[in-house]
Amino acid sequence: SSGLGRPSLVRLSSTITRTLSSLVVLESGSPSYSVLTAASKVGGPISVLLAGSKASAEALEVAKVDGVAKVLTAPSAEYDHSLPEKFAPLVVENVKRGSYTHVFAPASAFGKNVVPRAAAILDVQQISDITAVQSADTFVRPIYAGNVIATVKSKDPIKFITVRTSAFPDPAISTSSAPIEDAVDPSVNSQTTFVSEELTKTERPDLGSAKRVVSGGRGLKDKESFDKIIYPLADALGAAVGASRAAVDSGFADNSLQVGQTGKVVAPDLYLAVGISGAIQHLAGMKDSKTIVAINKDADAPIFEIADIGLVADLFDAIPELTDKINKL
Ligand code: FAD
Repeated sequence: SSGLGRPSLVRLSSTITRTLSSLVVLESGSPSYSVLTAASKVGGPISVLLAGSKASAEALEVAKVDGVAKVLTAPSAEYDHSLPEKFAPLVVENVKRGSYTHVFAPASAFGKNVVPRAAAILDVQQISDITAVQSADTFVRPIYAGNVIATVKSKDPIKFITVRTSAFPDPAISTSSAPIEDAVDPSVNSQTTFVSEELTKTERPDLGSAKRVVSGGRGLKDKESFDKIIYPLADALGAAVGASRAAVDSGFADNSLQVGQTGKVVAPDLYLAVGISGAIQHLAGMKDSKTIVAINKDADAPIFEIADIGLVADLFDAIPELTDKINKL
């Protein structure tokens, strides 16, 4: 013995350079393939983990995505609804078996629920909501509602990462298919059981992934005007509807439509802000949109500072006129 004492297991594992490989955990029902693009920036083979009663069918699709080396499925109904108490041990057991160096999941309700628990079981720290991969250990992530961009380096032997899906493009679909294998299924007994869920049903494009979004703010005055002004414009553009927190708090729109720091983060090709002042907490949810159009009667509203196209006008005149013109195109 050297007399220096044995290095701890943690030190050993972090000093040995392991071959890079990633496990991408996707949500059954709405798999965000752009997480695979983030994982591909690290290098090394990518395995995908899918669980739940639809996993086997979904695996056939995921296996065709470019860059996927293998799909692991745990097709048990136990994983429907992604209860984190069951899902986190599933992730951990598969990370152990595959000796993955990186675990990626979307920074969605699903990823935010499962990944921190899995990381905690393995006593490593999560790296949250990344928008870029600089190297295998260095990542970029917005903090303070997007006002500061932090570059963080992790020394953890396994990196658990949630990905801001709007920051990465979808990968291409390949002509070949990756193999599909059984995941390790620890079938953990949990005291938590799924009781029920209430989902908001809508025929409209999904706010999180829509190419166009029309959002309304407090300037709409009441729910009736919100419905009468915002929805026809959204229909004319084939757009999803969003709202500021003031509009949600005032009961003009459903909570699920809130865009911003405490709502959804969107980055569509076109974002129309109608009667929204442009508070920093709202900007945090939409400022990465490709083209931002603002309609506000106050020429000094901060939203105009980030808008590509601004119209100083009363929305009650301008929006019906705009909707009419679009419908006539
Ligand atoms: P206001 O700021 O009241 O703006 C209304 C705008 O409408 C004004 O600019 C006005 O000029 C314009 N207007 C009025 N009448 C007309 C008209 N006839 N024609 C044209 N324009 C008109 N906010 C979010 O949106 N999302 C979040 O996720 C969020 N999270 C938050 C988290 C925290 C911790 C805190 C403290 C705040 C958060 N907020 C969030 C709230 C945020 O600070 C603002 O209060 C909110 O965004 C304001 O919404 P608004 O722009 O609709 O309303």
